[in-house]
Amino acid sequence: MRKASVVVAVVGLAASAWALPNEHESSGGRRGVVPARGGAEGSACIVKSDIPPMPRELQHTVQRIPADVYRLDLATGEEVLPFEDRGVSNNRINIVTVGDGYLSTQQATYNTHVTNAVNQMFAYEPFKTYKNYFQVYRVNVISTVQGVSGDPTSDIVRSTPLGMRYWCSGIERLLCVNVSACYSFAANAPQPYDQILAVANSSKYGGAGYPSNEVGTYAGGNSSAPLIAIHELGHSLGDLADEYDYGGATTYTGGEPFEANSSKLASAAMASQQKKWHLWLAENRAGFDGPVGTYEGSSYSQLGVYRPSPNSMMRALGPNFNLPSAEQLIKSVYNVVKPIDGAPTPSTATVLGPSSSVSITLMQTLNNPLSVQWLRDGQPIVGATGSTFNVSSLNLRKGSATLGVRVVDNTTMVRDAAFRASKMTQTLTWSMPVAACLADLDGDRAVDDADFLGFADMYNVLLCAAIAPAECAADFNNDGMVDDTDFVVFVGAYNALLCP
Ligand SMILES: [Zn+2]
Repeated sequence: MRKASVVVAVVGLAASAWALPNEHESSGGRRGVVPARGGAEGSACIVKSDIPPMPRELQHTVQRIPADVYRLDLATGEEVLPFEDRGVSNNRINIVTVGDGYLSTQQATYNTHVTNAVNQMFAYEPFKTYKNYFQVYRVNVISTVQGVSGDPTSDIVRSTPLGMRYWCSGIERLLCVNVSACYSFAANAPQPYDQILAVANSSKYGGAGYPSNEVGTYAGGNSSAPLIAIHELGHSLGDLADEYDYGGATTYTGGEPFEANSSKLASAAMASQQKKWHLWLAENRAGFDGPVGTYEGSSYSQLGVYRPSPNSMMRALGPNFNLPSAEQLIKSVYNVVKPIDGAPTPSTATVLGPSSSVSITLMQTLNNPLSVQWLRDGQPIVGATGSTFNVSSLNLRKGSATLGVRVVDNTTMVRDAAFRASKMTQTLTWSMPVAACLADLDGDRAVDDADFLGFADMYNVLLCAAIAPAECAADFNNDGMVDDTDFVVFVGAYNALLCP
């Protein structure tokens, strides 16, 4: 019995409503102020559609439906953009918003609905710290009818560009959308999209998350709209589970949930098996829901399945995310964004010379600057921790193979060391095949009288390695002394005059 589209679970997000057990018990599912309950479908806000995912590399195959697009500058406002060919890829998580049921005369209302949600999103961790890792594009879709289907009642049908509708799968609060239409309108953004937020012109409570399509929906005019949008992004961006415990069977009988924030393991087993959020157990940190533990009740069941914290954003609307969820969201970001923003100057294909200057641009986090270490032949260069490096600061006469730079995000919001090493660390390497010209002490590519004076100076030091390492520039044979052996090398080079 395969159906084209399967709604596995349904909305139920009002913070006040789902905190009231009596309402849950009595709801029967379709009554309006309480979430649906009972039946195999449960009552979450996650929707699975049969529309295939649209990864960046396939987005050029989607037919674009033209509409105006704006880049939201999160600090200074917005900027209208011409349509550019897709396929230009930036080093950001691109969120594209599309509106439905907004007339041409209501676009300012839509703009406000978008801005409200975006601003509130970036007030929550980890979005707050990683705000600069995101780019938000707003697509202004013009509808010829106002509002969306199912508002206020299930019999109301409106023909809108995105086909947004309440009562999806018979659940009043489940606000579904035509995913293909989302793709076609989001294609107006000049960058590939990573997340689509579909906004309904309605004040009626509702939302949905389509994790496999990276689409979230919310009712733009509802008083909880920004919080619904953030919760749905938890689903669509972080693939997070709902942490509330109603809507499904009383006792959880499924396999281990795939989501990072739900588990069948209670704390002792989780710790001993080193699974799920074991690294976070007992952590209690300001700005996150906690303390972290294993709290029974999650994923639509009251028993046999656990959540990481008492009452997080994935359980109710308004509280902070817990740390395991925040870590998962940061991982989702770093699956797309690299710590070094764009290409370095010069590119790593360039062979550096003895006076080259090299620079990189770092992604900018809030209160958590990325750490930088420049490397010579893979070894740290003491004190070289800035975004630019001058090769001239190295003594290259003895030859040196590579210059490298390693950038790491050491945020304390991530404890997965393997992930940090693989995705939150980036290393670039350049070649430095500077020919050895041992006796050219002043670096002018000639071995002349000026170098002889320099050599004479260093010769006086003799035990350079022990006394004055900088004077070891004239220790051509690397024995820790500037002595007669080195003088013989110098004389040979002096006679040749020019470096090789
Ligand atoms: Zn949810």
